[in-house]
Amino acid sequence: MTFNKDADISGNRVRRSRGKTTGVAVGGVGGLGLLILLVVQLLGGNTQGIDLSGLTGANQAEYVPEGGEALSECLTGDDANQNVECRMQATALSLDQYWESTLPTQAGIQYELPGFELFTGQVSTGCGAATSAVGPFYCPPDQTVYIDTTFFEELSSKFGAEGGPLGELYVVAHEFGHHIQNQLGTMDSADRQGTGPTSDAVRLELQADCYAGMWVRGAVETTDANGNSYLMPPTQTEVEQALSAAAAVGDDHIQETFAGQVTPHTWTHGSSAQRQNWFITGYNEGSLTACDTFAVSGDQL
Ligand SMILES: [Zn+2]
Repeated sequence: MTFNKDADISGNRVRRSRGKTTGVAVGGVGGLGLLILLVVQLLGGNTQGIDLSGLTGANQAEYVPEGGEALSECLTGDDANQNVECRMQATALSLDQYWESTLPTQAGIQYELPGFELFTGQVSTGCGAATSAVGPFYCPPDQTVYIDTTFFEELSSKFGAEGGPLGELYVVAHEFGHHIQNQLGTMDSADRQGTGPTSDAVRLELQADCYAGMWVRGAVETTDANGNSYLMPPTQTEVEQALSAAAAVGDDHIQETFAGQVTPHTWTHGSSAQRQNWFITGYNEGSLTACDTFAVSGDQL
């Protein structure tokens, strides 16, 4: 997905922190269960190679939301096309506008801006300290999306996605999808302790994929203050990049790749096919109702 080179993407929407280490507890295994429940990731966390050991020591007092620096070098869509951090800011601006207009009309509530922080190596959050090993995630207590952009290289090199900007944008849109679930109360009402292909955990993840698809469809209509579209319409090839990214982070694909066997009863995010299907549903239907993964029976998930 290409940004309109003239679009104004300036502002302080995204913060960047660099390896904040103060007060980070290491090895807090006792708190791990709690933390898994607190954060919502892009990836399952119980397979070899992407374990959750990078996420330790919940202590909300450590989190400083005003921390980090603004992405002052990100001014135009042209910057977004060339620089991954600027791409994050431009994506956030488009997502904000999409949900600002979609949530009131489809759900009768106002959209609240989530925080969005880029980090390198490790970060302290309202859900505790995390390292890049966790992958991109959303922390409900501080309503913030956290991404180490080096993950996007791993998405291709380690998880086998095709790569390309729309794959990256899908990841951001998925995490914003968790924020929408948080606002709608879906996250609170779900039982996030169970696992398996029809578990609430998987339904939550597939719904976030569906919400990402909704945005990809509607993104071309989002504009800066001067009426310039943020994004050009996605090409078929670009939509395939997003689908490839969704398939790469499917539980079955991750288990096959890193553990050598697929164990569906441990799934927390859904299979590659499920993730692609729900992304497409959101893309085609553009509606929260169509994305109600909790309303369908297990064999329709
Ligand atoms: Zn997720």
